[in-house]
Amino acid sequence: MALFGTNGVRGIVNEELTIEMSMNLARSLAAFLQNRGKKSQPTVVIGTDTRISGMMLKAAAVSGLLESGILVIDVGTVPTPSLQYYIKNRQEIDAGIVITASHNPREYNGIKLIAGDGTEFSREDEKAVEDIYNAGEFKAAAWSKTGSLCFESNCNEEYLTGILAIIDRKAIEKKAFKVVTDTGNGAGSLTLPDLMSRLGCKVMALGAQPDGTFPWRNPEPLPDALKEAVAVIRDAATSFDLGIAQDGDADRAVFIDEKGEFIDEEVMLAAVEKYILHKEKGPVVTTVSTSQRFTDIAKDEEVDIYYTPVGSIDVGRKMVEVGAVYGGEGNGGIIYPRHQICRDGAMAAVLVLEMLAHTGMKASEIKDTVPTYFNEKTKIKIAGDLKTVMQTVSDKIKKDEKEIGCLNIETIDGLKLWFAGGWLLIRPSGTEPIIRVTAEAKIKTDVQKYLEIGEKYLNEFAE
Ligand code: MG
Repeated sequence: MALFGTNGVRGIVNEELTIEMSMNLARSLAAFLQNRGKKSQPTVVIGTDTRISGMMLKAAAVSGLLESGILVIDVGTVPTPSLQYYIKNRQEIDAGIVITASHNPREYNGIKLIAGDGTEFSREDEKAVEDIYNAGEFKAAAWSKTGSLCFESNCNEEYLTGILAIIDRKAIEKKAFKVVTDTGNGAGSLTLPDLMSRLGCKVMALGAQPDGTFPWRNPEPLPDALKEAVAVIRDAATSFDLGIAQDGDADRAVFIDEKGEFIDEEVMLAAVEKYILHKEKGPVVTTVSTSQRFTDIAKDEEVDIYYTPVGSIDVGRKMVEVGAVYGGEGNGGIIYPRHQICRDGAMAAVLVLEMLAHTGMKASEIKDTVPTYFNEKTKIKIAGDLKTVMQTVSDKIKKDEKEIGCLNIETIDGLKLWFAGGWLLIRPSGTEPIIRVTAEAKIKTDVQKYLEIGEKYLNEFAE
C-alpha cells in the first residue's frame, strides 16, 4: 500500500487515518533508524499542529516509538518549521514526526516525517519506511530497552529567536509596520503575532487562538477564507501596511497588500528571490510548475537555476545538493537556507517585511518588481491507469511536436512543453486519479491556446 503522498501521510481521521496506522508508522520509523545501525536507541522529536485529533495520533505514535526503544522528545503544539529548526540545531536527534494535515480541512490529519538534519524525509527514505510498514518488519524492544519520553516547551521560542538573529531587525523596527495576521487558529497562532510584535509592528491578530475545530476559517489560506482579513485592511479607518496569513501548520504564508489585494504567490516567490539575489549571489531551486518569473529573475541576476519535481521535499533536497541561496514553490512556500532548508511561513513573513523596509516600497508595488505572466490551471479526471495514460499521451505529443509548435519537451515531472510564448505542464497527481494541466504565457490568449492543446490529448481518457 502506498502510504506517503506528495506531503506525508494524509487522511480523514478514524476513517482513512487511524491510531493503528500512526503507531505502526512510528514503529516502522524506529526500525528504519535502528536498521541504519548507528544506535539501538535513536532520538525522535514529535509535535502536532492544533488539530483536535493531534493528541490521539501523537499518543499512538509515541507508544509505538517507546515500545521500539526510542528516546522521544515531545515539543507540543508547533508550526512544522519550528520543529524542523529544533532538529536542525541538535546533532543527537535522528528524526522527527509532525502530526499535521497542513492546509487540509478540519476532518483531516496527517503524519509527516523529518530527517535528522531538519529537512523533510527524502522520497527514498519514505519508501524505505513504507516498505517496513507494509511488511510489518518492526519489533518490540526487550523490557529493559523500552524508550523514554521527555517534554520540551522551548521549541517555538528557539525558532523565533533563530529568525530574529538573521534579519535586519533595526530596519524593520524603524518602519513600525502595521500588520494584520490571520493564522486561522492554526499552529502559527503561537508564533506569528508574537514575532511581528517583537519586530516593532502594530499587530491585529485574527484567528489567533489555537483551536483544532478551526472556528475562524478553513486551514487553507485561500482568498475566500481570508475575507475578514481583507475587510479589516480595506476599512477606511485603518491603515495597515500588510496582511499575512498562514496555513494550518504555518509552513506557508500568503500576503495581502495595503489596499486589501492579494499578492499572487508566484509574484511573491519571485520578488523575494530578486531581493535575496541582490544581497547574495548563488544558485536557486524551484519546481517545474513554478512561474517563468522565477526563471527570468535568475537569468537577470546571472545565477544558476535548478528545477525539481513538484513538492517541497524535492526542492529542499536539491537545495542542499547545489548549495542554493534561495528556493521554493509558487504556492507560498518560500525556502531561505540561511535559516533552514524547509518551507517556512514565519521566515517568509519576515523576509517580506525586511524587503519592504530596505526598498521603501509599498506592498502593492511588489508586483511591479517582477515580470508579468498569465497562468491558468485545470484538472482532468482520468479513467484508467495514470501511468499508462501519461505514456500514451507522451508518445502522441512527441509525434506531433512540430505540428503543435512545441520547441522542447522536459520530463522532470510529467511533461512540460515549451512553446515560443510560454509553457504547458501535464502532470499526473500523486494521490488522486487526475491529471493536472497548467499553462503560462506572456500573452493571455496563448494560455488558453496551450491549455486546449493539453485538453485535446487528455480528453479521450477523461472519466
Ligand atoms: Mg503546510
